[in-house]
Amino acid sequence: MTTADHVDLPRFIAGVERRNPGQPEFVQAVHEVAQDIFEFMADKPLYHEAQILRRIAEPDRVISFRVCWQDDQGNIRVQRGWRVQNNNSIGPYKGGIRFHPSVTESILKFLAFEQTFKNALTGLPMGGGKGGSNFNPKGKSNNEVMRFCQSFMTELYRHIGADIDVPAGDIGVGGREIGYMFGQYKRLTNEFTGVLTGKGLEYGGSLIRTEATGYGATYFLANMLKTKGQDLVGKVAVISGSGNVATHAAEKVTMLGGKVVTLSDSAGFVHDPAGMTQEKIDWVKQLKNVRRGRISEYVDQFAGSTFHAGKTPWGVTCDVALPCATQNELLGEDARTLVANGCMAVSEGANMPTDLEGVHVFKEARILYAPGKAANAGGVAVSGLEMSQNSARISWKEAELQALLQGIMDDIHRRCEEYGGVAGAPGYIDYVKGANIAGFKKVADAMLAYGVV
Ligand code: NAP
Repeated sequence: MTTADHVDLPRFIAGVERRNPGQPEFVQAVHEVAQDIFEFMADKPLYHEAQILRRIAEPDRVISFRVCWQDDQGNIRVQRGWRVQNNNSIGPYKGGIRFHPSVTESILKFLAFEQTFKNALTGLPMGGGKGGSNFNPKGKSNNEVMRFCQSFMTELYRHIGADIDVPAGDIGVGGREIGYMFGQYKRLTNEFTGVLTGKGLEYGGSLIRTEATGYGATYFLANMLKTKGQDLVGKVAVISGSGNVATHAAEKVTMLGGKVVTLSDSAGFVHDPAGMTQEKIDWVKQLKNVRRGRISEYVDQFAGSTFHAGKTPWGVTCDVALPCATQNELLGEDARTLVANGCMAVSEGANMPTDLEGVHVFKEARILYAPGKAANAGGVAVSGLEMSQNSARISWKEAELQALLQGIMDDIHRRCEEYGGVAGAPGYIDYVKGANIAGFKKVADAMLAYGVV
């Protein structure tokens, strides 16, 4: 008999809580995954004995460092930076960098843990990691952002590499920040390698990387609707966020015939009952990426729309919802409202936007619900394709990449179907369970092959 024979789910979670005090987001993410994995492992003692889940829930390493930079007034500012390298069993660590004042070690550990399963689901050889800083790029000049990114990379560069750990963008880190960080990496190492993804097209970036997360979440949504014999044509969509993921989800939903009626930011949401056209979405992209403005400005531009300060958009009646802003932005009460208003499908563009209570509401209502680790994997999938192109020193055409992205999202949907069946509920797919088990199995089997390392 081994110690593993005695571990049950409550004891496992209690252990995770004890070992990670003050890290609620990380505990929440592990809890959600562990429920499904314990069920899956019930008749597979090998995984238990090898303590696989315990090992995946303990990052390979967490690197924490000081980032000093000088603002435009000459003041010295001190921020904290992190890189969480969670698991590299199936490939180099891979995951975004987030710059936002809310960033903590707990949030980055949860994201790196989730990323491990998501990357496995893509079918590409990528391990899981995540990084970031509590730096707030909002309101900073370009020069301040550049100085911060250079200082951040001056420490990070020694921990990453094209075959070691390949970061990308996330909240607060877009093309501008990736450019500054890649420039500093190149300067420090005198190497031009695919060490970051999300790069500009002029220096090794991949076509459709920018669009991939939002487009992929919409393809996944369309795949779910297809299981009910439906599509997006004429469906009213509520979307949160107005950044990279939200605007590209809005674009693809519109292309596929849906009607997007909301976007938001941390100050509130805009409701445009007439629906957002490509022209309106392009205006929002310009607002956020170039003018770095606020979504409330939308109402001055487009008649008939309204701004709702301090509110999330989940009370607006819709057929489908795509949370694309941040974690825990859709709570149990919001989920109940969506279900009561007839929402039939939720596809998460953001990471863990729905809290545990909300997830249970969606599952109990048996609506189509795709967790971020499945629905938003399109971004990291195209990042994986960017890595392949960089290694081979080639650039694929847009049509090839679009087909590859769509194929990967189809495969993820199939894997979720394969493992997401629920006893006593014929035809219902628990996408959370399907994604957790399919992602876990691939990583776990690689870990078993390595022995105790
Ligand atoms: P982004 O371009 O920086 O946009 C983030 C959006 O979310 C902004 O509209 C922002 O509004 C809003 N937001 C941030 N924090 C918020 C909060 N606490 N409450 C309400 N709104 C908030 O970031 P993104 O790349 O679109 O990422 C959005 C989500 O998708 C994140 O969960 C990220 O981890 C996930 N994701 C991104 C990718 C990718 O390829 N970029 C891939 C997979 C998953 P403000 O401007 O007011 O902050």
